[in-house]
Amino acid sequence: MKITSSAYALSAVRADQYPPGQQAEIMLAGRSNVGKSSCINALLNNSSLARISSRPGKTQTLNFYHINERFYFVDVPGYGYAKVSKKQREAFGKMIEEYITSREELRVACLLVDFRHKPTEDDVLMYNFFKYYDVPVIVIATKVDKIGKTHRAKHEKMIRETLKLHGDDKLIPFSSVDKTGKIAVWSAIESFL
Ligand code: GDP
Repeated sequence: MKITSSAYALSAVRADQYPPGQQAEIMLAGRSNVGKSSCINALLNNSSLARISSRPGKTQTLNFYHINERFYFVDVPGYGYAKVSKKQREAFGKMIEEYITSREELRVACLLVDFRHKPTEDDVLMYNFFKYYDVPVIVIATKVDKIGKTHRAKHEKMIRETLKLHGDDKLIPFSSVDKTGKIAVWSAIESFL
């Protein structure tokens, strides 16, 4: 994908705030600190678009980024952050559910997990949530640069098995440091545009 433009468009918490225009939307979700902002910035060749590690768990809005004036990335607030209150957790759940159930523009969700570790309970819940609503998922497994090449197959297997990945859903090892997986992520996303 050649990125000719990428810009923050708007933030939304409710359906009437989503962007007009009926362009395709790609959702990106993952627990706090998984490397989601770094991944967005790496995919868009833009080092400052999504804020990196700023106040984890605090941004409880869906953030829309307009790409090539043709489609949107929808950045979901990081989940699984210990200091988030029950009330915030419920608001998060409601916001995501409303988006997923009402948004026809949603083509695919990218679920970011940490390549180094077994997916958390929250990761599994999030994956199952997408599957429940029949949303196709691309699993992006971040920070793969931290694992030696000889160990990578074992980690991939652990992630696949823990999420019980459906046959149609892709798992792509990714690094925003050395850009491993960037081309594969774009080609997976493009197949939904
Ligand atoms: P977010 O909370 O999910 O948006 O995570 P960030 O993008 O802010 O990244 C969290 C931390 O992980 C930061 O210190 C990043 O520099 C680091 N990080 C993110 N992606 C990678 C990666 O691919 N490889 C390595 N080694 N570190 C990463």
